[in-house]
Amino acid sequence: MAMNDTPLSRHRHAAWRDLPWVPVAGLVAAFVLVAWAVSGSVLGYYLAADRTRAQATLQLTHQVLEGHLRRFQTVPDLLADDGDLRALLDAPGAADSRDAAAISAWLATRNALLDSSVIYVMGDDGITIASSNHDQPDSFVGQDFAFRPYFTAAIAGGRGRYFALGTTSGVRGYYFAAPVRNTAGAIAGVIAVKVDLDMIEADWRRQTDAIIVTDAEGVVFLSTQADWLYQGFLPLTADRVARTVQARRYADQPVGVLPVSRSQMQGLPVIAMTPGTAQRTYLEVSAPMPLADWTVHVLRDTSDARAQARLAVAAILLGLCIVAGLGIVWWQRRDRLAARLAAQDAAKVELERRVAERTADLARMNAQIRDEIAERRATEAALRRTQADLVQAGKLAALGQMSAALSHEINQPLAAARNYADSAAILMSRGDLDRAQANVGQIVMLIDRMAAIARHLRHVARKPDTPLKVLDLGAEVDGALALLANRLGDVTVIRDIAPRLPRVRAGSVRLQQVLSNVLANAVDALEDAPLRRIEIAAQHDGDFVLLTIRDHGPGVAGAIADRIFDPFFTTKRVGSGLGLGLSISYNILKDFGGDLRVGTHPAGGAVFTIALQAVATDRMAAE
Ligand code: ADP
Repeated sequence: MAMNDTPLSRHRHAAWRDLPWVPVAGLVAAFVLVAWAVSGSVLGYYLAADRTRAQATLQLTHQVLEGHLRRFQTVPDLLADDGDLRALLDAPGAADSRDAAAISAWLATRNALLDSSVIYVMGDDGITIASSNHDQPDSFVGQDFAFRPYFTAAIAGGRGRYFALGTTSGVRGYYFAAPVRNTAGAIAGVIAVKVDLDMIEADWRRQTDAIIVTDAEGVVFLSTQADWLYQGFLPLTADRVARTVQARRYADQPVGVLPVSRSQMQGLPVIAMTPGTAQRTYLEVSAPMPLADWTVHVLRDTSDARAQARLAVAAILLGLCIVAGLGIVWWQRRDRLAARLAAQDAAKVELERRVAERTADLARMNAQIRDEIAERRATEAALRRTQADLVQAGKLAALGQMSAALSHEINQPLAAARNYADSAAILMSRGDLDRAQANVGQIVMLIDRMAAIARHLRHVARKPDTPLKVLDLGAEVDGALALLANRLGDVTVIRDIAPRLPRVRAGSVRLQQVLSNVLANAVDALEDAPLRRIEIAAQHDGDFVLLTIRDHGPGVAGAIADRIFDPFFTTKRVGSGLGLGLSISYNILKDFGGDLRVGTHPAGGAVFTIALQAVATDRMAAE
């Protein structure tokens, strides 16, 4: 299976297909709009921050520059007071004198002390008489500075200040000048201090911002950008250019105009400059410096602010995209969850339907079972009724059987007795009294037999409660065998009773009755048997003495083994048995606390086991 066919990826594809593309497109459009809307404010924020920084730079620059100039402001006045200097101006042609050389040396030491650029003295014609740089190649001595505005101002008694590019040195400087009076007190010359500004400009280059200083005409004369120098920062008018040229402020430097265009960016003034091709836009802050009639400008490139703004907008866009992405993921998860919940609900409904189905099935089955139980109960009742009927029928049958047996048992001796009585009457009439007496004897015997039957029946009917005795089983067996001597005939009896057997608890007459019954049945069973033998054995077994009587007859069939102890159960011919013998015997033994069981010997023949309670030897002695 190819990777993109897996159920998972199918699901994913489905999830992407399921996306509401129209709202997503709307969202993207909204993001673009938001980015566009905020980009201006963001740029404004960064520009404002940059402007604040530029203003701080401006303030610092302004202070440093002004402080630097102020240091030299009073220097010409102080030096102009010097007596030697004033004396020098008393005589014309002073420049050639030895005094002029001494003054130049003096000025050189002052210049070195003050850390100014040059200090020099001019006569009333503007020609330099003495200068601190008198011994250097670009010495001012002999130079004519009458054209400089600071000279004209000072010679007129005022204080001269001027900024210019040195015509001799080519070095930019600020000039402070004061009139020098000769010893007579008349203004005879001018002393000027030139302050170097190159060092300050070099310092500015370490700043990131562009710093320029423009003069009263708007011409750049200090700048961190060398190519902006001596260019008009303000639109230069013709008279402005004329003024500049006339003062030879910038010596022979050509004065041009910078390609400056002013505009607004997010409400802040900016200037655009196109040096070469790359258009650059600057935030501009400026402050006038009245001390020198200058304006200090700080220009901060807006590209940083713009880059930061772009970055911020990109970050905002990215943030929005992440939020939207998370939203989409959340939406998809919620969708999937909803689908899963729906599936679970469907499964639940299905489960409930099945449960209901099964419950209905169970209810049906229950009803069926209830019906079956009712049916079974009805059948049982019918069966019980039938059973009761059968019992009743059985009882009637037993009664009939017993009646037949009884009538036979009694009718036969009665008939015989009648015959004997009839014969006795005839014999007596013949005078044969001996034979008549014999007949009467027979009649008595028959009556005894009937009495015996009556006694049997009495046993069946009620339970005698004669107290039990401790008996010697061997003797009882012998007694029973003696009673049966007539019926035994040719049957061999093997008697195996241990002499030291414990004695038993029983009633002698009833025990002999039991033994006689069982032995008589054994004799009956041997009627057609080839081996006419009965084996009697006794042994001690726990609390009992077990007496077994085995014959070699047909045995008791399993089918009737349970029933032979029932009263009136017999397989013998009518008149031969009442079916009471074993029933009576069983009950007698139960009365003794013993038992009677029947089994079949593996070699054939029935085995009757008579269990009797054994009596302990010491108790035997006591009794
Ligand atoms: P009766 O001897 O009058 O039939 P019993 O209660 O003594 O009555 O015996 C019930 C039945 O038990 C007998 O009819 C006979 O079928 C069976 N029976 C008893 N003893 C034996 C035996 N030793 N061998 C075979 N069958 C026996």
